[in-house]
Amino acid sequence: MLTQNLGYPRIGSHRQLKKACEQYWAGKIDLQELNKIARTIREENWQTQLDAGIDLIPCNDFSFYDQMLDMSLLLGVIPHRYTPVLTQVKGNQETDLYFAMARGYQKDGLDITAMEMTKWFDTNYHYIVPEFTAAQDFKIFSEKVFAEHNSAKQLLGNKAKPVLIGPVSYLLLGKEKEAGFERIDLIKKLIPVYVEIINRLKLQGADWIQLDEPCLTLDLSKKEKEAFEHAYRALANRVSGVKLLVATYFDALLDNTQLAVNLPIAALHIDLVRAPEQLDEVLALIPERLQLSIGVVDGRNVWKNDYENSLKLIQKAVEKLGGDRVIIAPSCSLLHSPIDLELETELDHGIKNWMAFAKQKLNEVSELHQIAEGSDQFLQANKQAIESRRSSKQVHKRVVKDRVAGIADADSTRLSAFPIRQQVQHERFKLPLFPTTTIGSFPQTDEIRQLRAKFKKGELTSKQYDEAIERATIEAIRWQEEIGIDVLVHGEFERNDMVEYFGEQLDGFLFTKNGWVQSYGSRCVKPPVIYGDVSRPKDITVRWSSFAAAQTDKLMKGMLTGPVTILQWSFVRDDQPREVTTNQIALAIRDEVVALEQAGIGIIQIDEPAIREGLPLRKAKRPHYLDWAVKAFRISASGVNDETQIHTHMCYSEFNDIIEHIAAMDADVITIETSRSQMELLQAFAHFEYPNEIGPGVYDIHSPRVPSTQEMIDLLKKAAELLPARNLWVNPDCGLKTRKWPETKAALENMVAAARMAREQIVTETLV
Ligand code: GLN
Ligand code: ZN
Repeated sequence: MLTQNLGYPRIGSHRQLKKACEQYWAGKIDLQELNKIARTIREENWQTQLDAGIDLIPCNDFSFYDQMLDMSLLLGVIPHRYTPVLTQVKGNQETDLYFAMARGYQKDGLDITAMEMTKWFDTNYHYIVPEFTAAQDFKIFSEKVFAEHNSAKQLLGNKAKPVLIGPVSYLLLGKEKEAGFERIDLIKKLIPVYVEIINRLKLQGADWIQLDEPCLTLDLSKKEKEAFEHAYRALANRVSGVKLLVATYFDALLDNTQLAVNLPIAALHIDLVRAPEQLDEVLALIPERLQLSIGVVDGRNVWKNDYENSLKLIQKAVEKLGGDRVIIAPSCSLLHSPIDLELETELDHGIKNWMAFAKQKLNEVSELHQIAEGSDQFLQANKQAIESRRSSKQVHKRVVKDRVAGIADADSTRLSAFPIRQQVQHERFKLPLFPTTTIGSFPQTDEIRQLRAKFKKGELTSKQYDEAIERATIEAIRWQEEIGIDVLVHGEFERNDMVEYFGEQLDGFLFTKNGWVQSYGSRCVKPPVIYGDVSRPKDITVRWSSFAAAQTDKLMKGMLTGPVTILQWSFVRDDQPREVTTNQIALAIRDEVVALEQAGIGIIQIDEPAIREGLPLRKAKRPHYLDWAVKAFRISASGVNDETQIHTHMCYSEFNDIIEHIAAMDADVITIETSRSQMELLQAFAHFEYPNEIGPGVYDIHSPRVPSTQEMIDLLKKAAELLPARNLWVNPDCGLKTRKWPETKAALENMVAAARMAREQIVTETLV
């Protein structure tokens, strides 16, 4: 029996790579220094895996920015707009080109936009989307994979296993940049280059090569399935003397099982954490020549593996296949988990004993291997840890469980239907047509950030800190009054992050010091960990919302993060269904909503920007998810009276396919990101005859650009053609946290002017 790893985090245990890249971009270190830091990270990673006793150790899993971008460079898929970086710029050409593709290039008289970035399946990692043209050619451009394999070999010998994105997933994850062709048809041109790469790696001494084909866990068309067959037949015919391992992860193979097990390859990897049930079918269908790598250690979460459970799967595979055809592995690349639990010196010892980060997960793979081969070590200690978690009073709270179990239909339904609520709310708030508001946060200036840092370090008393936040809040309120915004916000100056702020004040959450995970490029996130039943020991936002409301005669909106978003952006416990955890959070937020209502806050926004991200990869599983996700939101929103107006906010677009579920959330007002798509999204809302009020974002907050009043009126006119004017709000696309004050002020002044003009110009039949 062998062990393997599919990929290891590359940011460095102290985020060295992030810091090095940012210094390189700022011209503070040179390429040599950057490369030195990268080499050290790679060598440390390899040594760690070697020490853990892993047999097949990935190389080329390192990346300065993203592994898909690396593939594009390897295969010469470089959009034409970047040619000047190669031909006109003196410097570190390949590196400059690489970062230009990732981040855009605005130097040396050039102004080239970055490539698009999108989410890697259902993770919070973002990859750079390959761009294909009809006449796309492929040829080896970058030497990175060869160099990395050579250097891995020095340390690891033939344990070094180069990792590539497989040809079919590489094409499917990209996009066509012009009409008239389908990117999947490029497979015939692409395969010869893969053949060349694989043969070169073989000549360098590679024994195994890992080809990641996560698209095998998606719904595939007939043509896409055929592309897999064709691609791997063509590869098998033209390479020999090297073992190809196809890695699938993030879901079950389901209807692609036959296809996957019959590919002419040496080994197939399947994810048994996400989809343990697929083992039976795979074992039933697997041909005799194929080795099976079983991913039993969760590569995407922070929990200690339950050895007994994993051993059952391992034994089942071994019984059917024999030990020499089984490989034990993490479920997917460890890229998605934090690096080293040992660095968490301040965690509660009991809870820490239930957790494992990347480094610890490698040991789990190795220990499982040893147990499966007969060792009587490790199992007892693991059993104890798992049992102590299962029975822990820190985790399990009777009251919380009972309350979730007792959720009734009435808890997820507002007292009256929307038309009645709307009437009551209109009478109460007496807002003009096209009421203006913002999404919540105002610029987080350096001053505000430093304030928080000083407070955390103990350099400020909480009184000093609160007073400074109060000053910032008052200033923001005065300014909103001056320019004539209708529904004010307090600015969220007291919040570091929209999930962390809530997690810190809820029971059942913990925070790590160093549990960083790469989100994209040099950006890392440190998600909270939900370890136990969630409850709300005290009010969370009432203090700041009440304070803000007391500063003005105008309407002040309360601001909360919704249950699905809190779940989606955290590491979630794996010992109960996600929907149960979400319902616990939903009840906590519901109590907060009610507390705000009692404190006199009449308009409350519950942000759910992440609701779409949780969508399962397979279509068949989506309705169930949408059901419980929407219900959780409704539970959080339905504890209030008719005259309390509930807003929600969503961004990152693409709502067309889930519009009916957005409507089912039944928020009185939804504000959404639409400006970049020129209100295209609203077509979906119009077509669906979306019944409730809606604030389509009239300006893009992701850029410092100040939109003109005219531009915003034009957008409002478009919106009013599509939806009843009496249902329309006027607001930016999202929160203004990342912006600077001058542009924010200018843009919002224009926005208020646009709303005023809209009131005069767009009084139409839609109103009657
Ligand atoms: N209320 C949050 C803010 O304004 C919403 C952020 C988001 O949608 N991502 O910052
Ligand atoms: Zn947003």
